[in-house]
Amino acid sequence: MQGIMQDWPLTVNKLLEHAKLINPTREIITRRVSGKIVRTNYAAVYDHSKQVSSALIDEGIGLGDRVATLGWNSARHMESWYGAMGIGAVLHTINPRLLPDQIAWIANHAEDKILIFDITFLPIVEAIKDKLETIKTFVIYAGAEDMPENSLGAVAYDIWIDGRSRDVRWGDFPEDTACGLCYTSGTTGNPKGVLYSHRSNVLHTLVTMSKDAMGMGADDVVLPVVPMFHANAWGLALSCPGTGANMVMPGAQMDGASIYELLDTEKVTITAAVPTVWLLLLAYLRENGLKLPHLKKVIIGGSAIPENILRAFEVEFEVDVVHAWGMTETSPLGTLGTLPPHLMDADIDLRMGQKLKQGRPPFGVELKVVNEAGEELPRDGKSAGTLLVRGAAIAAGYFKGDGGNVLDEDSWFDTGDVANIDEFGTMQITDRSKDVIKSGGEWISSIDIENFALAHPQVANAAAIGVYHPKWDERPLLIIQSAQGESPTKEDILASLEGKIAKWWTPDDVQFIDEIPLGATGKINKLALREHFKDYKLPTA
Ligand code: ADP
Repeated sequence: MQGIMQDWPLTVNKLLEHAKLINPTREIITRRVSGKIVRTNYAAVYDHSKQVSSALIDEGIGLGDRVATLGWNSARHMESWYGAMGIGAVLHTINPRLLPDQIAWIANHAEDKILIFDITFLPIVEAIKDKLETIKTFVIYAGAEDMPENSLGAVAYDIWIDGRSRDVRWGDFPEDTACGLCYTSGTTGNPKGVLYSHRSNVLHTLVTMSKDAMGMGADDVVLPVVPMFHANAWGLALSCPGTGANMVMPGAQMDGASIYELLDTEKVTITAAVPTVWLLLLAYLRENGLKLPHLKKVIIGGSAIPENILRAFEVEFEVDVVHAWGMTETSPLGTLGTLPPHLMDADIDLRMGQKLKQGRPPFGVELKVVNEAGEELPRDGKSAGTLLVRGAAIAAGYFKGDGGNVLDEDSWFDTGDVANIDEFGTMQITDRSKDVIKSGGEWISSIDIENFALAHPQVANAAAIGVYHPKWDERPLLIIQSAQGESPTKEDILASLEGKIAKWWTPDDVQFIDEIPLGATGKINKLALREHFKDYKLPTA
């Protein structure tokens, strides 16, 4: 027997429609690239988003077409999101921190038709314009007054949408229609696209707004420092309109002073970013003897929270820390570290110990850890194995079938993380089986570094691993096995990488060992290398 309830497709445009009707005057405050602070609200953002839809339709964009953005967090960026998603186009957020050639590769792979970007990225876009095979239209987040000269024939965003019709229908498609595309560097080969659906994004939003997750309401003021090109700013670009919370958009300035200024003047109550951002803020607060009287909660994820950051927020600044774990493939929130009821009144060390773990999955996310034979391990807080995840907002594969079938027969997705789970569902990451390095919340491909190092004639084998760094969480260490009878120097090796990888990917050190350990399938055994270098201290640390 079927239920007799309405068919109300879960499409993301409904989140902004709700904001416009219920919280029209709640604000979106942006620090533009120029430094100027501009204020708008959900009603105006809604109107502009509709005009973006009209402009896109006039460009010939329709259902399923990819619309790319290369943008900082801003109200205009939000408008282009909803304008694209509302008409069933696929919003492709590109990470500007990738190498220009990678950006071109991703845009071509996605077959983006249009690119809307911040002035900051004009040099990158001009440098790759001849490599962009499918993008025909360029729009720059600017008005007539600050539109830069360019060789792209680009239009200024404000002019592009000005005077366009707001009479566009949104959400005229099934809820499983593709909605957003975000590439992840993954472990091997080229980046792969995670293709969110309207339904998965709406469900993720509903789940993450709840009290044991992000826990926000219409009276909150949310500062997403985490970029909108990182898996929907951890969903905040959807959950803030969903709740009616004010949004404070930091634009390009994420240093301690700039973030503090916004936290203070806008009386921000909730903020979110990777650990590196918080190190800069904490240093600034201490240097200037400042406090955080308005801030209630800081969500920290992307990599593990160092204990000093956790204790600084909780004890010194009296701000509740929510440690979050997730992946682009999990939309991205997988676990959140709000305290479970039985630990609310525990002593500080127990509470901090709990918060250093990655947290508990909200309803909608299933987790388990398995051994090498695929057998589930006990939930005892000790047994560590591969972390698998399943749920309505978890990727079932990658765009265009890249990477093949990624689910096991019971639809579990392998995260590439190694973890344990306790009897209350608290998950703790203990290692990573995938080979990427995460520096300041951004991936560095160990494979690229290794391949270029291997091209050096005096190198027999090369492995790059992430090792602890107090500011960046991880930095690359390059481990070299020299070719027989050769003894290259650190300087030789680093010089051979120059110009081939982004400067910030350059390994902080090179170490030489007799033999790089290999695993069963002949692949470099990174776990063994990480174990070997676990007490190693980088010269830059
Ligand atoms: P994001 O864009 O949210 O950083 P990615 O897909 O780039 O997501 O990276 C996901 C990976 O980052 C995870 O599989 C895990 O290895 C690592 N990670 C994310 N959050 C945490 C955390 N809180 N603690 C430890 N590792 C984390």
